Amino acid sequence: MISFRHTWQLDCVKCPCSFQLYVTLISILFFTLHYITTWSSQFGDVPEFLPTKQPFWDRPAVLVDKALVEASLNSPHSRASLLAASSQHSGDWLFALPIASCGLKLDDEAVRVAVGLRLRLDLCLPHECHCGSMVDAHGVHSFVCKKAPSRTARHHALNDLIARGFASAGFPVTKEPTRLFRTDGKRPDGLTLVPW
Ligand SMILES: [Zn+2]
Repeated sequence: MISFRHTWQLDCVKCPCSFQLYVTLISILFFTLHYITTWSSQFGDVPEFLPTKQPFWDRPAVLVDKALVEASLNSPHSRASLLAASSQHSGDWLFALPIASCGLKLDDEAVRVAVGLRLRLDLCLPHECHCGSMVDAHGVHSFVCKKAPSRTARHHALNDLIARGFASAGFPVTKEPTRLFRTDGKRPDGLTLVPW
């Protein structure tokens, strides 16, 4: 120990970088011990061999925070919004490339509404719908109202997107063909045509 200390002191005098490295290592050691002590006091014993995967250390705290957020929600609608937003693949639309020719480019208003629904923000002023129902600030009523003017527009936009997808893949299509059913007069949203 004496010789080591002596050697280190000599090195320290010779090279200031060694002293800085020594201080850094000591700081990291103290921080690690402090972190492990704090972590184990909250989430239990630490394994003998410290896991190297970050999720092992993060997951317990994330679960605690998630429980706190869920406990703070005071309405079934709020809880449903959180569960929907946190469910698997619910945010995949955020990864879609905004390609206008494929119908994947959202305008600013669409993004505003989509983000507002995901975060349960106020989207409009409360008002009375054409159907007589009251629409709250979250505007969710527009998704279930049979008289909402945007309902038809969404239907046509989605139908058009599917039709263009078939056409891009080489399948001739016709949208909403008539006279396919003699019994009820209904027509499907689209029909793929076999050209041979
Ligand atoms: Zn309505």
